[in-house]
Amino acid sequence: MERLQANSQSVIEKKKRYLIPCMFHFYKNPPLMVRGEGVQLIDSSGKRYLDLYSGVSVNALGHCHPEVTAAICEQVKTLQHTTSIYLTEALVDLAEALAGVLPGNLSRSFFCASGSEANEGAALLATLHTGRNEFLAFQNGLHGRTKLGMSLTGLSMWRTDPHPVGGITMVPPPHCKQCPFGQKYGICKFECVDAVDKAIQSSTSGKPAAMFVEPIQGNGGIVVPPPEYFPRLRTVLNKYGTLLIADEVQTGIGRTGKMYCMEHWSFVPDIITGGKALGGGTPIGYFATSDLIAQSYTRPGASTFGGNPVTAVAALTVLRIIQRDDLVSRSAELGSFLRAHLENIAKRYALVADVRGLGLMQGLELNGAGRKPAAETTDFVLEAMKDAGFLLGKTGPSRNVLTFMPPLIVNENQLRDAADTLERIIREL
Ligand code: PMP
Repeated sequence: MERLQANSQSVIEKKKRYLIPCMFHFYKNPPLMVRGEGVQLIDSSGKRYLDLYSGVSVNALGHCHPEVTAAICEQVKTLQHTTSIYLTEALVDLAEALAGVLPGNLSRSFFCASGSEANEGAALLATLHTGRNEFLAFQNGLHGRTKLGMSLTGLSMWRTDPHPVGGITMVPPPHCKQCPFGQKYGICKFECVDAVDKAIQSSTSGKPAAMFVEPIQGNGGIVVPPPEYFPRLRTVLNKYGTLLIADEVQTGIGRTGKMYCMEHWSFVPDIITGGKALGGGTPIGYFATSDLIAQSYTRPGASTFGGNPVTAVAALTVLRIIQRDDLVSRSAELGSFLRAHLENIAKRYALVADVRGLGLMQGLELNGAGRKPAAETTDFVLEAMKDAGFLLGKTGPSRNVLTFMPPLIVNENQLRDAADTLERIIREL
C-alpha cells in the first residue's frame, strides 16, 4: 500500500508539472494502473479491480485479450506503418468486415484515429453531399474535443471553447422520465420531435446539412430515447433534406445488445461514426455511409494513421471474436441480468432516482432531497466502489449518474458482486 501511495504520488506530481492542466483523473486517491487482464485492472501495489467502465466503452473484449494481443504483436513484427497513400490489405479487409455488420445500406468506410476525428469527417461528408454547412445536435450530447466536435457537444463541462463554431443549433434530447416539455410518454405528442422542426425553422437557414445524435446519450447520463423517436425525427429531417448522423463511438460494436444501437429501433442513419471498442485498445475512428452518399467525397482524402496495419488487424480480430463468441447476444443477456440487480437496488433506496440503459450500457441516477442531483454522493460511491475493487464511470450533466459499461466478456458472478457491493455502500451511506 505504501508503495502504491509513493508511486501514484510521484506520477501525479510529474503529471501536474508536464501535462496541460486540463488533464484530470477520476478519484481523490487514484490507483496507478500497471496491468490489465481480462475484466481486471491491476495497480502498482498488486491490487486487482474489476473494470466495469472499460476505459469508457473501449475494452469490449477486456484487457489484453490474448488473440488481439497476438494479432497486434505479429503485425508489429511484420509491417507497422505505411500511411493510407500506400496499398495495404488489412485496411480494405476491415472495411469489408465492417460493411458486413453495419446496418442497412451502409457499406463504405473511412478510417481515422479517434472518435472526434470521425465526427469531423462525417460533418465534412454531410457538407459535401448536401452543399450545406449548418448542423443540429442534442443538448447534453458529446461528440469530441476538436473545435467542431466540441461545438457540437451540448454538455457545458466539455464545452471548454469560449468561441465555438457557429451554425450549430442545439435541441432538447428525448428524455421521457425528465421530459423537458413536462409531458408523459404514452400520452405526449412527441413535443421533442416538434421542437426540432421549430428549431430548424426559427434558428437555421431552413437547410441544415445534418443532425448529429448519440443513439443513447453516453456522457449525457445514459439517456435512452423512446422507440418512436428516431423514425419520427427522420420524417422531420426529410422535410428539410437534412441527413442524420448517428455517433456510435460509445454505443457501437455490441455495447447495447445490438451490433449498432440504432438497430434497436430498426433505424438506418445516413452516416454512422464509430471508434473506441473496434480498435481493441488501439486508437481508431471511422465514419461509414451508403454508396450514394460516399460518391460525394471523391477528392483525395488521406489519414496518416487511419486504418494502419496494426490497428486494422486489431479491429479485424475484435470483430471476428465478437461474432464468433456471439458477444452481442451476451451483452443483451448480461445487460438484463445487471439491470434486474440495479432495479432491485433502486426499489430499496430513495437515493437511486432512476436506472436506464440498454445491454451492457447502464446508468444509475443518484438524487438527494428534493430530487436534487447528488453529485457529491456519486463521487463518494465511486471512490468507495474503487476501494472495494470495482471501477465504475460517472456521467450526466450534473455528474450524478453511476455508469456501468463493462467488457462484454464479463460474467454474472462479477456483475452480481459489483451490484452487491454497490448495494452495501449505498446502505451504509
Ligand atoms: N463521441 C462520443 C459519443 C464519445 O463518447 C466520445 C468520447 N467519449 C467521442 C465522440 C470522442 O471520441 P475520442 O475521444 O476518441 O475522440
